[in-house]
Amino acid sequence: MPRAFITGVTGQDGQHLAEFLHGKGYEVFGLVKGQNNPRMVQMRDEFPYVQPVPGDLADLPSLVKALEYAQPDEVYNLGAISFVAMSFNQAELTANITGLGVLRMLEAIRMVGGASENSMRLYQASSSEMFGKVRETPQTERTPFHPRSPYGCAKVFGHDIVVNYRESYNLFACSGILFNHEGPRRGLEFVTRKVTNSVARIKLGLQKEIVLGNLDSKRDWGYAGDYVKAMWLMLQRDQPDDYVIATGETYSIEELVKFAFAEVGIENWRDYVRQDPKFFRPAEVDLLIGDSTKARTELGWKPEVDFPTLIKMMVAHDLKFESDKIR
Ligand code: NAP
Repeated sequence: MPRAFITGVTGQDGQHLAEFLHGKGYEVFGLVKGQNNPRMVQMRDEFPYVQPVPGDLADLPSLVKALEYAQPDEVYNLGAISFVAMSFNQAELTANITGLGVLRMLEAIRMVGGASENSMRLYQASSSEMFGKVRETPQTERTPFHPRSPYGCAKVFGHDIVVNYRESYNLFACSGILFNHEGPRRGLEFVTRKVTNSVARIKLGLQKEIVLGNLDSKRDWGYAGDYVKAMWLMLQRDQPDDYVIATGETYSIEELVKFAFAEVGIENWRDYVRQDPKFFRPAEVDLLIGDSTKARTELGWKPEVDFPTLIKMMVAHDLKFESDKIR
């Protein structure tokens, strides 16, 4: 039975990945931080097959102990401060967890897993936010980085240190440069879920308006369930490498809002949306669109769920989620 260790197992991608790997027959271990993590109850109920292991990406000895205990074949480093807006307010924390956390994970693998091509394989969750103020469109594995947030800067460090350790110590370490991916498990703070959840609440009479920032930003949005398959595929290759994972289509936040309201039969969506400068970022990323040709060719990966289907899925989920709460 292959063994996988996931940091960030309580997050959106961690949940999808745990489900996917369990379905493939893996024994799944998940790093859980804090002494009374509120998401543990949900994990125990919905993912009883995940074996929780205590630890924190800020604490190297805890990562070493976790790997000694789990003895994984594959390590998926998904743990991060992942909310771009929060990274502007807590830049040092973001650099520590999202950036230095990757270095700690690599060191823990070298200490416990051995530094050779037979060591534990590592997947690092890199991000399209590293492209930031984009130098070319669409973005590929060779597009230079120009991050526009502390989160993006921390991800660039994480990405570069993975490449450096791969080249220096012969580690099997891959980075997936994933463009935005969403779904019903997305945290309520992220704009897609904020919109689909607010639309559901407006439809049910529980909320009057949605307050948003920039409606013009464009993102390449895919479905998280599709994207975790790419993470696994990267670790099954003979050689480690980095891959862009994206749909190749881009939609604005305004289009997201329009699609979501249309799902509940509301056409005059502007009546329910207010913009507030407090939600604008100090430095914006205007347009992201990825070219995933390399992943499609070498990994045989392609996205299954398109953007309209994704929004339909999220609105349907949030209508049920909010209705169940008032029953
Ligand atoms: P998420 O839902 O925000 O999950 C983040 C996870 O990180 C949570 O499980 C959280 O644990 C954990 N974490 C936070 N601080 C930690 C610490 N100090 N030690 C250990 N774990 C810690 O993020 P996601 O959407 O699943 O994304 C997964 C990864 O992919 C992240 O690295 C993210 O930056 C990256 N990424 C995401 C996207 C996207 O569109 N979703 C795109 C590109 C890259 P708690 O639950 O205990 O707080």
